[in-house]
Amino acid sequence: MRTEKSWLIERRIERTSKALESNAFRTVYAPTKTQALQEALRLIPANATVGVGGSVTIREIGLIEELERRGNRVLETWRKITPEEDLAIRKKQLTCDVFVSSSNAVTEDGKLVNADGTGNRVAAMIFGPPKVVVVAGVNKIVPDVHAGIERIRNVAAPMNVRRVGGTTPCVVERCNLEACTPPSRHCHAITILEKCPTKTDTTVILVGEELGF
Ligand code: SF4
Repeated sequence: MRTEKSWLIERRIERTSKALESNAFRTVYAPTKTQALQEALRLIPANATVGVGGSVTIREIGLIEELERRGNRVLETWRKITPEEDLAIRKKQLTCDVFVSSSNAVTEDGKLVNADGTGNRVAAMIFGPPKVVVVAGVNKIVPDVHAGIERIRNVAAPMNVRRVGGTTPCVVERCNLEACTPPSRHCHAITILEKCPTKTDTTVILVGEELGF
């Protein structure tokens, strides 16, 4: 990467980190996805039960494989399981030791913006697991909440729906809130974490590379 580009990315991450910390989130800067993996592993105790939200980022850095390799119990649903098992895992994620996820958007004024279809991911990021680790590539940083919601509707959701073979309006053309209905709709709940929830020790690892949707 050219030095001017990495300089700009670092400035953006530094600005966002300061804002997140002023909103009571902890932050870590990882220049690469390899370093992001190491930082996540450092933050998660070796004996912790770890819930993993629906996240391409977490899978791209290889965190699930490394957690399982070192003996952590991992609760995640992107594997071949029955609907009953899927529901049971999502419920257990709400009481796990550490919950890991990405964020659909991280704002430069220090907020986390997310959309969820089922709700277990955004619920676990707010309350339940005492510790949450968020990994977000530089592509997730946006100026403010409005831009974060735009990012969800025009960037993250269409790719997510495409990933599962859905046909919501954002995949066919563009987001249409009136025409998009359950169960295919992906954005049932939108959360804005304006400050770190008081019972949830949340660390945001900001990565100097593009990751996830
Ligand atoms: S509300 Fe529907 S159309 Fe809009 S971004 Fe979400 S899934 Fe796509």
